[in-house]
Amino acid sequence: MTDKRGKEKKDIHWADNIAETVRSRAQVDPILKKTVKERGYIVYDEKTPSGKIHIGAGRGWVIHDCIAKAMRDKGMKAKFILSSDDTDPFDKMNKDLPPGYKKYLGMPFRNIPSPVKGYESFADYYFSECVEKFEEFGIEAEIQSTGKAYDKGLFNRTIKIALDNADKIQEIYGRFSRKGSVGTKRLPFNPICEKCGKIGTTYAYAWDPVREVVKYRCEANLVDWAKGCGYEGEVSPYDGRGKFPWKVEWAAKWPTIGVSVETAGKDHFTYGGSRSVAIAISDEVFDYPPPYPSTRKDIGKAYEFFTIGGKKMSTSKGRGVSFAGMTDYAPASLLRYLLVKTRPHAVIDFDPVGTNKVVLLYEAYDRTERIFYNKEHVSNEKEAQHEKRVYELSHVGGPVRKTQPIQIPFTYAAALVQIAGDADAAMGALVRTGHVGKSVSAADRKYIIERLAYAGKWVEEFAPDDYKFIVNKSVLKESRVKLSDVEVSALLMFKEKLLKRREYTEEECMEIIKGAVGESGVLPRMFYRAAYLALLNKEHGPKLTSLIKMIGQKETALILGTLEK
Ligand SMILES: [Zn+2]
Repeated sequence: MTDKRGKEKKDIHWADNIAETVRSRAQVDPILKKTVKERGYIVYDEKTPSGKIHIGAGRGWVIHDCIAKAMRDKGMKAKFILSSDDTDPFDKMNKDLPPGYKKYLGMPFRNIPSPVKGYESFADYYFSECVEKFEEFGIEAEIQSTGKAYDKGLFNRTIKIALDNADKIQEIYGRFSRKGSVGTKRLPFNPICEKCGKIGTTYAYAWDPVREVVKYRCEANLVDWAKGCGYEGEVSPYDGRGKFPWKVEWAAKWPTIGVSVETAGKDHFTYGGSRSVAIAISDEVFDYPPPYPSTRKDIGKAYEFFTIGGKKMSTSKGRGVSFAGMTDYAPASLLRYLLVKTRPHAVIDFDPVGTNKVVLLYEAYDRTERIFYNKEHVSNEKEAQHEKRVYELSHVGGPVRKTQPIQIPFTYAAALVQIAGDADAAMGALVRTGHVGKSVSAADRKYIIERLAYAGKWVEEFAPDDYKFIVNKSVLKESRVKLSDVEVSALLMFKEKLLKRREYTEEECMEIIKGAVGESGVLPRMFYRAAYLALLNKEHGPKLTSLIKMIGQKETALILGTLEK
């Protein structure tokens, strides 16, 4: 697209820019043009279901989903396909598995029983755990199984090409290997051993292009994580009897599926890494243009890591760094917002435990939402447009509402839920505080209850101590001794004023505080400290006027009244 001055016009959001780049590519590349005409724009991602899947992979899924959505918004026929690489070999135990699973090492994940009842296989269990969350995350993906694609013979054509060009593929491996040519005769295909069912232990060493069979051995010492059975035989490589090694498979998928976009985490994009090799194979062996962000000549830029507390944790360690487990910390819609707003090339470090990161995330989301509904003005028009687009692309569940949902600031929700006891009671209190009208809509009610429930969970499990408190029924002795006489009389004066009228607004309450401070001669700072000590047994707390509203004016006065004894 160009503007009036003929300059290239940039879209405001990264996903829209990518959509435009890919469209331009398909206009000039004849192979891509034909592919897109026949199958539409295929945005593709894949994952090995080897255990709990890390949130870093989830970042890729949201990125790909977002690109496909941006394409559809531009009228391009596009879909996001996510495939489970379920025929990869099981090569490492994880802590959730019973020791008996060691016997399956070397077998394809889809042929291993599920560690949990109700799933078809090991692969099905770990993949489903994520896919079940897609609706919450607003991810629209067509889920495929790479193993089934092999079974259906979709890879037969590329398997033949790869085996016919085994030397060429070896040369490419050698080109990117630091050690130079590896000098092996190993073929780019791993059969499933017909005797023991393992795929990680087989070594294919001869290809007969006339009879179309590969000869292989199931070796005892090929890998150190699984032991082959020693069987030697020959087998047709077609229709699911084995698979490509990973880097060749990556390249073979692109022409087979017709992929035009597939990015990945930057660990795959190192020089000589899997992406470099796959690009060369795609270009030189399969003659297919590698998908965005790569081209035949250039690897392009990967997306950055999603780290938790500065660490790129692996899937086998730590609680709650898995994609599915992340919704313990924040709702999927908020996490989606974080991923949509952040450019793929920027690192995301999210440490929800003992920090205010969750608070900041909610605050940023609420601000974006207000900008979207023109309730908050931003002087920079570009920023306003960007925020609005982020809101659209991160929206989850049905069309965007016509009116802005009722926003309860997260810290307010966290304080309220502690005072009220639980989310339902807090909802009632919000009617009293005037945040919510008596005739609140079902959608707003659901939205607010969800926020209150998350706030409650956050306070209980992850919040720093600053956000945690208990409202005492009377002023505790240990707090009483910290108060001077002038502070006590200021609080009692304040109490009298609270009892004078039925309900004050927060603004009126502020005036009363000022009055009590002025009349008693106490320092304002000391008045607040005294009030928090009396009410919460802490020197700090939520905004005092809000706190009083949450506790209730009369209830606050009753607590302060216990200072008279
Ligand atoms: Zn075997």
